[in-house]
Amino acid sequence: MENRILVTRSSMPAFEEYMDEIKDIWDSHWLTNFGKKHKELTEKLTEYLGVENLQLTVNGHMALELALSAMGLKGEVITTPFTFASTTHAIVRNGLKPVFCDIREDDCTIDAAKIEDLITDETSAILPVHVYGNICDVEAIEDIAKRHGLKVIYDAAHTFGETYKGKGIGAFGDASIFSFHATKVYNTIEGGAVCYHDPDFGKRLYGLIDFGIVDEETVDAVGANAKFNEFCAAMGLCNLRHVDGEIEKRQSVVERYRQRLQDIRGLSMSPVRENVKPNFAYFPVFFDPDTFGRTRDDVFEALTAEGIIARKYFYPLTSDFECYKGVFPHGDTPVADRKASQVLTLPLYAGLNLDTVDRICDIIIE
Ligand SMILES: *Cc1c(COP(=O)(O)O)cnc(C)c1O
Repeated sequence: MENRILVTRSSMPAFEEYMDEIKDIWDSHWLTNFGKKHKELTEKLTEYLGVENLQLTVNGHMALELALSAMGLKGEVITTPFTFASTTHAIVRNGLKPVFCDIREDDCTIDAAKIEDLITDETSAILPVHVYGNICDVEAIEDIAKRHGLKVIYDAAHTFGETYKGKGIGAFGDASIFSFHATKVYNTIEGGAVCYHDPDFGKRLYGLIDFGIVDEETVDAVGANAKFNEFCAAMGLCNLRHVDGEIEKRQSVVERYRQRLQDIRGLSMSPVRENVKPNFAYFPVFFDPDTFGRTRDDVFEALTAEGIIARKYFYPLTSDFECYKGVFPHGDTPVADRKASQVLTLPLYAGLNLDTVDRICDIIIE
């Protein structure tokens, strides 16, 4: 355990800084239910992320599940199978049908050119994912959605702090959700947020986060409990003070990987896209066995033997999950199928030292 290098390591503030931040929770005895820290973090994140409105939730998954619910969708949702379980589960748990669209070869985001063929009378929304922090083709998606009267909800779990053409990434679509899970670029231990424009949507969402309770005698929606607590808010306030520095440290790790792994036959990396301020959330590499000479699984095993724990993110595709087999059509997704078989996400976190990065690269090159 001690000597193993894991794919990620959670960012944490100094112990004393957190202790200092939680002192007033002891004074107030206010532990959850929209307290002072909740309010302060909501304001700070709204500003940091450059969004119009933001509501905190207990985690990123509930942000997504309740955002879809508050949208009042019916029928089918066009989405990507190249993602974390949460994206597809959120659709299905709302009683909606996921329709799987293929992804782009270069950055693994949904292929907007293939969306329109999948639209039917039943389609109500598009749920793309800015996967690995790679920004989707937001202009093309917005254009399709407008022409067909569809809602767009972005799973922006990987894009904390990113901007596209100077605009906060959470400001795109009808809603965008973030995850502040311990393993993400910015964490509140567990936590998430929904960003949106429409205040009426915001009211419905607020109800769903807190049992549909309007006042002591009125409950007007079948809500869940997805409230965000004061201890997580305190962690969020501390981590927000340091997140820019953490992103800079991640950048130096990514630059080293790119420098060492460029020009290797059969190994490809995500492109660096113009107009994007990146957050260096993940470092996926793709191995084409025909030209690289070894499979992704060979590399995975070679790294594991040296105590380096990389992850096959995202494999399997969500459309290949046991729970969805024979339930929803797999979809015609040849690019996603291939990418899932070739990808390995390498260790990346703020404190990862460059000697370790070199060691990982040596193993791969060998
Ligand atoms: C992490 C993640 C989520 C879910 O977030 P949690 O905070 O863990 O519930 C959703 N979508 C994607 C793409 C993620 O990576």
